[in-house]
Amino acid sequence: MSRFALFDLDGTLADRQSALSDALTCLCRSRALSPEAEQWLRIQLVDRATIHDFALLRDVFGLEASAADLWQQYVDLMSAAVTCRPEVLEGLARLRAAAWTIGIITNGAGDIQRAKLAGTGLASLVDGVAASGDLEIRKPDRRLFELAATRCGVSLADGGWMIGDNPAGDIGGGHQAGLRTIWLRGRPWPDALPAAHHVVDDVTDAITILLNEISE
Ligand SMILES: [Mg+2]
Repeated sequence: MSRFALFDLDGTLADRQSALSDALTCLCRSRALSPEAEQWLRIQLVDRATIHDFALLRDVFGLEASAADLWQQYVDLMSAAVTCRPEVLEGLARLRAAAWTIGIITNGAGDIQRAKLAGTGLASLVDGVAASGDLEIRKPDRRLFELAATRCGVSLADGGWMIGDNPAGDIGGGHQAGLRTIWLRGRPWPDALPAAHHVVDDVTDAITILLNEISE
């Protein structure tokens, strides 16, 4: 088994939900948005955000600011608010020290996902990044896994691991890509989906599993 691991970003390595809440509070205050507009944004962005959400916000609530300005402010606020716990950064550094190749595979717009990787300190710890917005291909599509592997300089044919919190996108997609999988428990598990190889409560437990893996 090759020492190659792909990690999901939001809800796996980084806590998007608390960052989102802080960023939206800040954005809505600075733009003096109505409570209705704030509520709308919180629902609209619950899973992911793109510039189109801000174009819609602007139209629906009659804002003067351009969608590009609103989006840029959101990207800046999110990249400042999002965090990765020190023990997670440390775990990834240990994997790299043990000759693991580490990639990020994420459903999201490329600019904000890269800003978040820089803001959390993850950018310098990974070998390659594939964001769905780059190609308009989303997990569980195997092609996004192939892109991630290529950007890491490895081949899916050599195997590896996928670690994430989304059953269909991360674990189902990982299986289809021929990877072993570790699920970060939290969401309901869909009945029809084959089980992950391991299930953990914390991403640091997943890193420990990888570190204990004896190469075959
Ligand atoms: Mg996730």
